Amino acid sequence: MPKNWKTRLIHTDVRAPEGFRSLATPVFRGSTVLFPNAAAVTDQWNQYDAGYTYGLYGTPTVLELAGRICELEHGYRTLLTPGGQAAITLVNLAFLRAGDHVLLPESVYAPSRHFASRVLKRFGVEVAFYRPTIGQAGHASDSKKNGSDAGLSGGGETIASLFRPNTRLIWCESPGSITMEVQDVPAIVAAAHRAGVLVALDNTWAAGIYFDALAHGVDITMQALTKYVGGHSDLLLGSITVRDEDAYQRLGSTQQLAGCAVSPDDCSLAIRGMKTLAVRLRHIEDAALEISNWLAQRPEIELVLHPALASCPGHSVWKRDFSGSSGVFSIIFRPQFSKKQVQAFVDALELFEIGYSWAGVTSLAVSYDFGSNAARPYGHRIVRLSIGLEDVEDLKADLDQAFCRTMAQS
Ligand SMILES: *Cc1c(COP(=O)(O)O)cnc(C)c1O
Repeated sequence: MPKNWKTRLIHTDVRAPEGFRSLATPVFRGSTVLFPNAAAVTDQWNQYDAGYTYGLYGTPTVLELAGRICELEHGYRTLLTPGGQAAITLVNLAFLRAGDHVLLPESVYAPSRHFASRVLKRFGVEVAFYRPTIGQAGHASDSKKNGSDAGLSGGGETIASLFRPNTRLIWCESPGSITMEVQDVPAIVAAAHRAGVLVALDNTWAAGIYFDALAHGVDITMQALTKYVGGHSDLLLGSITVRDEDAYQRLGSTQQLAGCAVSPDDCSLAIRGMKTLAVRLRHIEDAALEISNWLAQRPEIELVLHPALASCPGHSVWKRDFSGSSGVFSIIFRPQFSKKQVQAFVDALELFEIGYSWAGVTSLAVSYDFGSNAARPYGHRIVRLSIGLEDVEDLKADLDQAFCRTMAQS
């Protein structure tokens, strides 16, 4: 029977020629996934077991990115989420229940801290925080430069002493957000596993590459693909990589019911980002090291918190456990500089833009104020930098002119 043209708009006989091959991963979009017959219809989330059932659980573009991240992180399987924060949330929802106790480092990404202390607490989870350098010897260089190492050294306390009978999960983030403490993850893993506690790690700074989380015993590793994998400040995605089927089942079934899906278009951009990740990271590592060492010599700067510099808490752990460094680090101004001056310095930068979500091609600067927080004893004197792909000499010249304009010593 000939079809009306309106039906033809939906059901066409046109078939594009077959055999197209290119280097780009196709963007497979789709909510509806077609089943061959009525009996085949199923709503199972695990597309590896069930075949494709629904767009929420991933199209081939999404599963290709997940597989590629998993390959790089040497995991069993990877799940993708609409952002790094969603990955953190999903881990918490999948592994915690009312009555459990969860530990987070004081240096954890702030929204992760807030999800724990505002949302998890509401659902009956006990939340506590620990010093990120717990168990590590104090850093003589830090205490000399800061006049106090109260917030930085492990202080003799052990992580095992913080475990309770109901401790279920401990989060690590290494280096920590903004204050950059490198954690002794293998020591924390050993203590946690003796006590039957799971270890989850936010591995965003290392791009899932410079720290091999699963090889160091971590159970669940996540990163914001928004950062280095995306690499161009134009997408939001997160990943969670696990080492076994049990963890994968817990996360996948929770993700299904949380309805937490990602865009295949964003995934295709992230796959493109992956292809240049090695050259971007290589350039950014060198540039950030050069700028860090240059900043460490500036009279205005008291301390550079870059894991590859001896002045960073946990530097020796970084040296032992990491295979490289990325482009995010912080600088601490000397005590004579006011908050107004520190902010004026950031405002005076011309190439460094001001904004969140680092790891793109554009260098960024953000100032913070930790007030009198003893765990992060830098007050208003801290500025975090993210080094992009601009010429290194131009970036140094930009920092130099900002120092001169706002902090000229009288
Ligand atoms: C940016 C960031 C996140 C969150 O990622 P989004 O994709 O912005 O949600 C999580 N952890 C760390 C360490 C981050 O820097």
